[in-house]
Amino acid sequence: MSLARIKGQDKAIGLLTAAFESERLSHAYLFGGPDGVGKETTALAFAQALNCEEEGLSGCGTCASCKMAQGLSHPDIHLIFPVPTTLKPAERSALLSGHASGGYREQDFGRKTAIISVETVLSEVVAKANQRPYIGPWKVFVLADADMMTTEAANTLLKTLEEPPDKTVIILTTSRPNALPATVISRCQKIPFAGLGRGTIEEVLLADPRLGFDKASARAAAALAQGSAGRAVRTNRQGPQVELKRVADLMAGGRTKDVASLVNEATALAFRLGRSEQQRFLDLMLLWYRDVLKLSEMGADAATPHLLYSQHLAELKAAADAMDVETLGRLIDKIDDARRAIERYSNATIVFTSVLLDVAVARKETATKRGVRHAA
Ligand SMILES: [Zn+2]
Repeated sequence: MSLARIKGQDKAIGLLTAAFESERLSHAYLFGGPDGVGKETTALAFAQALNCEEEGLSGCGTCASCKMAQGLSHPDIHLIFPVPTTLKPAERSALLSGHASGGYREQDFGRKTAIISVETVLSEVVAKANQRPYIGPWKVFVLADADMMTTEAANTLLKTLEEPPDKTVIILTTSRPNALPATVISRCQKIPFAGLGRGTIEEVLLADPRLGFDKASARAAAALAQGSAGRAVRTNRQGPQVELKRVADLMAGGRTKDVASLVNEATALAFRLGRSEQQRFLDLMLLWYRDVLKLSEMGADAATPHLLYSQHLAELKAAADAMDVETLGRLIDKIDDARRAIERYSNATIVFTSVLLDVAVARKETATKRGVRHAA
């Protein structure tokens, strides 16, 4: 993809372009920002543009170098991303070719933790950085989700960052810059990436026919995506209504009526879903309570506001009746914490048990409070 076609990241691309035009490219960049907003796409487009046979940063898309870059087969452009240690080389190349043809790299390995190992950094970065470019002019290394480097891997990379070979650019992308060692961060020039607006996400989804969105589904997915085009892409694949129903059922309380069924449900969520699906599930829980909050604030007699869970209005109303606004606010914070815990690879069974317990306690608390008020 050419840099010009990337949507919603004008600031980041402006910084890179200015550095290139003033011949002050840094040896290392840190692309920081939320998941699914185009950090990796921009890094690869920048790598393509640097090596394009045309003048400037055009990334024409038609020269031999651009074609190789787009197929991820350019010998001077290297994409490194976290994989489970058990992944075989053939499986890794299958992932890469999926990335080249699909545009979005799905990196949900279920319950296996994916890392960037020291062996990978040594063979894919250090060794290759010290060779001359094959066709050049630039060697570019993109380390996606660089925060998943092991400590040993980060220390090994640090040596290359400290003594950067000529004509080499190393780009680290991360949604959790604080998880990287300060020594690594201090060697990189930071390029901030912003969350995307709904309109931009819609455009991104519709721009690539391979993603399979029509206008209506793009609009629904963009509304659910909270600024992340990557998340919107996953929405489509899983079918929003089925997902919404599952969350609505759970939130309505039928499936978590006692401790045993609550633990069952939490275990199911922890074991059946991969990490990104778990995050998404928590996102949908948040959106459920946002709807409940909207209903509470509008009052029962007001015209129905625009709700995501409009097909579950009765359950939403019941939830709005069962919980006061203060409790609701606290619960929303807790679900948000749970989302971050999953992001940090905390034990999913514990996270889900505790968040479903929080929901049950919140329901009960309000009931008790109201009971006391009635009695008084
Ligand atoms: Zn080109």
